[in-house]
Amino acid sequence: MTASNNNSICNFDKWVIGNWKMNGRLSYNENYLEELLPKIEDLVINESIFCGLAVPNPYLFQFGNRLIDSLVHLGVQDISSENNDGAHTGDVSGEMVREFDCSFAIIGHSELRMKYKEPEANLVRKVKISVKNKILPVICVGETLKNREEGKAEVTVKTQVKSFTSGLSKDELSNCIFAYEPLWAIGTGENAKPSDAEIMHQLIRFECENALGSNLANKVKVLYGGSVKSENAEEYFLQPGVDGALVGGASLDASEFSKIIDKAIATSLNN
Ligand code: PEP
Repeated sequence: MTASNNNSICNFDKWVIGNWKMNGRLSYNENYLEELLPKIEDLVINESIFCGLAVPNPYLFQFGNRLIDSLVHLGVQDISSENNDGAHTGDVSGEMVREFDCSFAIIGHSELRMKYKEPEANLVRKVKISVKNKILPVICVGETLKNREEGKAEVTVKTQVKSFTSGLSKDELSNCIFAYEPLWAIGTGENAKPSDAEIMHQLIRFECENALGSNLANKVKVLYGGSVKSENAEEYFLQPGVDGALVGGASLDASEFSKIIDKAIATSLNN
């Protein structure tokens, strides 16, 4: 599925985005889609549910061909901070990604932040390029375990969000969504308490409100990420400030991923 523009994409009520990280093979992907797509067709997905998969770049063509007529949006896990083609070995530009009908790009995932120590200004540039190419940026923020143990979780996330609220124009910021992903919860099975996630989501929205005013900030979506599975997804979706989930490991299992989508549908219908 493709998105005509970011403003309409932000109108979804509940979001479930899978981050495949460095996983997949041609045959595995094929089997996965064979299983997932019929399951998704059976679910009552309507315009209020955004369902997406961020796959490794070499598989964009394969997924793009299969997802074009489906209810699943295609996305990438990062894009280049460079605007123009040229000597940027290893980079993939916003324009290239757009050619595969990608609707969204994860930006600033903690695994990349930690590995490459990328300056925040670079992440802000990536977001700008994303928006310019009509690719929805999913901006990841989150504290480390040390931050949390030292009582610095809130200030850490606030500082991260501020880089974006101060570095982006109002128009750019209102075309972004955030994912709160505490680092200690990613891939560990140690998911954050839904009530703690709610506090952080409110904090993120409050920072956006300072930059955008309450009307626009209310439309900014904030997803939770960190060991979300079908057994715990509903608890997050029921929090008023949690608009959905960014799902890593559990998105690699078609049955598990479709169950999480089903929970999102159920909570959306009940609200
Ligand atoms: C992630 O990679 O964004 C993530 C949340 O991973 P997991 O669900 O495996 O914790």
